[in-house]
Amino acid sequence: MEKKIVVIKGDGIGPEIVTEAMKVLKRVAERFGHTFRFVEVDAGGCAIDKYGECLPQASLEQCLAADSVLLGAVGGPKWEKVDKNNRPEKALLRIRSAMGLYANLRPAKIFPQLAHSSPLKAELVEKGIDFVIVRELIGGIYFGAHETTQRDGEAYATDLMAYSEHEIERIGRTAFETARKRGRRVVSVDKSNVLDCSRLWKEVMHRLSAEYPDVEYSDMLVDNCAMQIVRDPSQFDVVVTENMFGDILSDEASMITGSIGMIPSSSLGEGTNGMYEPIHGSAPDIAGKDLANPIGTILSGAMMLKYSFGMEEESRAIEEAVQKVLDGGYRTGDIMSEGCIRVGCREMGDRIAANIG
Ligand code: NAD
Repeated sequence: MEKKIVVIKGDGIGPEIVTEAMKVLKRVAERFGHTFRFVEVDAGGCAIDKYGECLPQASLEQCLAADSVLLGAVGGPKWEKVDKNNRPEKALLRIRSAMGLYANLRPAKIFPQLAHSSPLKAELVEKGIDFVIVRELIGGIYFGAHETTQRDGEAYATDLMAYSEHEIERIGRTAFETARKRGRRVVSVDKSNVLDCSRLWKEVMHRLSAEYPDVEYSDMLVDNCAMQIVRDPSQFDVVVTENMFGDILSDEASMITGSIGMIPSSSLGEGTNGMYEPIHGSAPDIAGKDLANPIGTILSGAMMLKYSFGMEEESRAIEEAVQKVLDGGYRTGDIMSEGCIRVGCREMGDRIAANIG
């Protein structure tokens, strides 16, 4: 099979981690007889530096014409003072929106080898942590009007949260369909005791749940959910929620699995082309030092093979290679523990690639 993969390395640790993911994907292509054509484009802070804009039109067009997009991370302190409409993160919002990627799947699964890295008590970890957060990605407060004005002699800021029924229904369907392939349980998370958007969210989810009688459905307030994730994460299978709540809860969920550097994500819309990226940011504090953990990005590549290209066996080969390297005791600094062998980003990528097939 031949596939065109648009690559956005981005800023901070982005170039380091994406280079390792490409290394692994190239090895998969060799091993399974595929051709992956990588097209590198600029977006984020590096694009601001080169072209003055966070997302050049040519980069966006390449993304729209790709079979899939692989992204590292964008942003950093260097671009904090840039106009808010040209901030590096805006590039991602625009790509997600233009590609119609409304469903962001973020697995929170603990690798048995990293059980001790979880900040949770051992007995909670032993009960199992294996759930998926299905986050709505192109609606809600991140996409509403943002404004800072003056009122009564002081600065006054507003951000608009808005959702329509169809936006809620389509992400709800993604969650119920995902649950059917897993443990058949969906928890919908909202703030319906305060927000109108959440009241509509809950109403649509309830209505939809009637179409999926084989899936156990319940809802939960977001503050309670934040607490339940650390109290007993084994209760969750699929968690569906709006954009901002999903952003926050998925970082919390990643931490209980050991490190934010381990977690991949996929963003999909109606078609098969999607965007795949680790859930963390550009980690400017460790950029350029060969310290970053590339596993979240490498596993994002595995998700791409499975969800966008239908390459189940190839995707499994990457997951198994990661397991083998962890079994061998190799760890980047963020997941390091006593008795293990510390490796850098590059060596971690080399070892995973060498274990493919
Ligand atoms: P971050 O996720 O970049 O870093 C948080 C902490 O986790 C840091 O201590 C960092 O060193 C560590 N970390 C993150 N990824 C790691 C990895 N792969 N291996 C080892 N350690 C890792 O979050 P932040 O510091 O809040 O944000 C930094 C920048 O990234 C900001 O400009 C922010 O806007 C941006 N950001 C971008 C994205 C994206 O591109 N999708 C997502 C989140 C944040």
